[in-house]
Amino acid sequence: MAVGIAVVAFLLTIVCDGLFTHLPKLAGTPAPGERIGVLHVHTKASCGSGTLPQVITAAKDANLSFLAVTDHNRAMSLASVAAADPPEFAVIDGEEVSTSTGHFLALGLSDAWARGSGYDARTLMASTRRAGAVNFIAHPFGLRDHWHEWETPDYAGMEIWNDDAVWRQNNAFEVAIAFLLYPMNSRLALLRLARTPSENLAKWDELQQNRHVAGICGSDAHAALSVDNHVLARFPGYLSVFELIRQHVLLGNNADPDHAGADVILNALKQGHAFCAVDALAPSDGFTQTVSASTSSGFSSAGPGDSIPYTPGATLHVAVPAGTPPATLRILRDGHQITKRQTQSLDLAIPGPGHYRAEAYLRQPGLTGFGRWTLWVFANPVTVTPLPNDASR
Ligand SMILES: [Zn+2]
Ligand SMILES: [Zn+2]
Repeated sequence: MAVGIAVVAFLLTIVCDGLFTHLPKLAGTPAPGERIGVLHVHTKASCGSGTLPQVITAAKDANLSFLAVTDHNRAMSLASVAAADPPEFAVIDGEEVSTSTGHFLALGLSDAWARGSGYDARTLMASTRRAGAVNFIAHPFGLRDHWHEWETPDYAGMEIWNDDAVWRQNNAFEVAIAFLLYPMNSRLALLRLARTPSENLAKWDELQQNRHVAGICGSDAHAALSVDNHVLARFPGYLSVFELIRQHVLLGNNADPDHAGADVILNALKQGHAFCAVDALAPSDGFTQTVSASTSSGFSSAGPGDSIPYTPGATLHVAVPAGTPPATLRILRDGHQITKRQTQSLDLAIPGPGHYRAEAYLRQPGLTGFGRWTLWVFANPVTVTPLPNDASR
């Protein structure tokens, strides 16, 4: 009897949560040159349930301006991208390449590339790079595959966030809550599954000590619940996935305000001129992370993916968009937290050279989020380099 009452109360709580928890609108105010899109999307060409035009429609409904298609072991032909003909919408052609040590995303890869019969990760990565692709390691700590080939020079970056890998961090109870919420409030349901990919962040920080590694977020969108390659349901749908985590690319003040092609966006991703955000929590458009310093040639400023020489008085500025709920900001230098504050913005005197990046957290809204602080934004680091004769490092 008591168990029955508890179950009914639990289900009623979920129904109330699904019906009455309203998430903020996704339309924010992007900075000049900021573009928002999603990476790592599967279509019917591999294990997804949608065609390319259907995926593009969902992306436009989610107010996005680009996406990267990455079907398993096959690139989209340029003809089919052209046939979808999305005006003012950039489609980055790519492929998710299976190797002996896991998967990587080869973005900007043409369907003219042939993988051959080998599975060696180094060989395949070198080959796609020679063919003009920009390589990103996908879900490096996945359930089945752990990436081992960290020494190869042929990747530009790695997925810090991958929906599939992040969702697997939840236990059965948490997945059940999301499953029950989904029919009433799909965005809230997926938001409940958002976790911090700590292992990926730690590896990223470690790699940055020796080489530039751009961090990206992959949606790994399939819109397919499959068993033995049979699609049982179009779940979770492309639109709800595209409203969860989004890749923000920073093209700078001089970017063409009307058009940014796939090549321009891909180059910015490669440079690390980007941040990722769980926009389902609140739109992060306009999030700022810059280091400013006065140098011999005057005052200069560097954003995510950029470098700037250290000078005494250099300042890190981090700010979340106006109107967002109270955020917790963590500032890391070379992977070590140096400040943690609940605030809308902060200015921090830089203690010396290093890789500086910010993480912002917001509380889950509604009843079944239990007020849990949830990773909202993480940005590529700003690198503060020592001056040639600087011994402070
Ligand atoms: Zn994969
Ligand atoms: Zn995938």
